Amino acid sequence: MAEQEQHEHDETPKVVGEQPDLSRGTARPITVYGNPVLHREVKDVTAFDGELSALIDDMFQSMYAAEGVGLAANQIGVDLKVFVYDCPDDDGVRHVGHVVNPVLEEFPKDRRRVLDDGNEGCLSVPTAYAELPRPDYAAVTGQDKDGNPIRVEGTGFFARCLQHETDHLFGFLYIDKLSKRDRKDALRQMAEGTARYATAPND
Ligand SMILES: [Zn+2]
Repeated sequence: MAEQEQHEHDETPKVVGEQPDLSRGTARPITVYGNPVLHREVKDVTAFDGELSALIDDMFQSMYAAEGVGLAANQIGVDLKVFVYDCPDDDGVRHVGHVVNPVLEEFPKDRRRVLDDGNEGCLSVPTAYAELPRPDYAAVTGQDKDGNPIRVEGTGFFARCLQHETDHLFGFLYIDKLSKRDRKDALRQMAEGTARYATAPND
């Protein structure tokens, strides 16, 4: 997911989660709208090995190179269910981590469903933003790179990120959730803009 246009950076944010080793991994070009790998459900991860670990290193590098706050594996052309994130919530807490085989939990029945209508953007729809209402709370279950079960929950902008990244792995971009008119407008913004990071050509 792309950073908010007018994101306010906290001077000393609290960080929750893992600390990626940025001495490892290589940034790869980002796939964009129209690339088939973004428009279908990708495969479950079944091998929790060094290759998966190296993929996650590359995903962190790619996300930071593109200045994103979240990245799904198919955004670097890999057909596997993994995403990484380094994303603030609305309380200024920075959440950093990865989730393998994520599944979005149903919204809890005992929680008041509040829709947050913030702006959303995506590294795979470069330079476009659109307002998209989403629940202000989300939780995903999945596994870590060693296959241990994990659960990640978040509020505000981070809840948006968890939903956005899980959607990617099932073949959906945020623009697929917009009205026809807003979707068209987002694609027009993308056509008129130029990404500030390396993208993979659609051929
Ligand atoms: Zn995205």
